[in-house]
Amino acid sequence: MQIKFLGTGAAEGIPAINCDCDHCQRARKEGGKLVRERSSLLLSLPGYELLVDCPPEIRSHIHEYQIGRVDGILCTRARYDHVGGLKEFEYWNGGVDLLAEHALFETIKREHWTEMLDAVMFHIPYYPGASLYFGGFSLIPFAARRSEPIFGVSIKENDTRVVYTSDTSARLTHYARRVMWECDLLIVNVPVFDPISKNHITVPQAIELKEEVKAGQLILTYINHQNRPHDELETYGRQFEGVSVAYDGMVVEVPS
Ligand SMILES: [Zn+2]
Repeated sequence: MQIKFLGTGAAEGIPAINCDCDHCQRARKEGGKLVRERSSLLLSLPGYELLVDCPPEIRSHIHEYQIGRVDGILCTRARYDHVGGLKEFEYWNGGVDLLAEHALFETIKREHWTEMLDAVMFHIPYYPGASLYFGGFSLIPFAARRSEPIFGVSIKENDTRVVYTSDTSARLTHYARRVMWECDLLIVNVPVFDPISKNHITVPQAIELKEEVKAGQLILTYINHQNRPHDELETYGRQFEGVSVAYDGMVVEVPS
């Protein structure tokens, strides 16, 4: 499968509006990999183009990366940075599957929905722990946080497994750790480097998680301006085997 990281920033993106921290100032001045739009992934799977999350920037991503096909959108969380771009699909030519767990979909319908989307989107509910079979591949969503509807997903094609955590904390269930066990690629959302909030796993904790679950590779994404700038984070990651840092537009081929 191919994975394209359309955006790799967290809720605010980098540079954040109205922020003069060193990280944001550097991003404004130097651009390049220091700039991060809100996160989403485009997975090219057998017969199916799957967008994981739909941030407010999706319209510019579709133009920039010349995305002509989206078969489904999997939502991991109902906040603006994850699904704020859904209304852009009011004008999508054709239908799109919208994969969302029941409570998540209720919130999305309340806060990010229009009648025009009813004509485009076909809701497919997913249930944490239950596999969704697509023929050439399958998905297993799992709860990424205990108190809110936030979900990670494991994608399996042949014997290759990629796990995306979404907005997880370091307090993962034993089940989530088993889903990650010996996966080929683990993609972890790390808005912060240091533990400033219990809601989010930190960079060192994500690297520990990779070792604990024996993941082949780790890619860090969903990086906020409180985290280290791209170059510093890359330097840190190079101390460990199989750890890399995503940037906007990065493409990864995962052999399967
Ligand atoms: Zn900042």
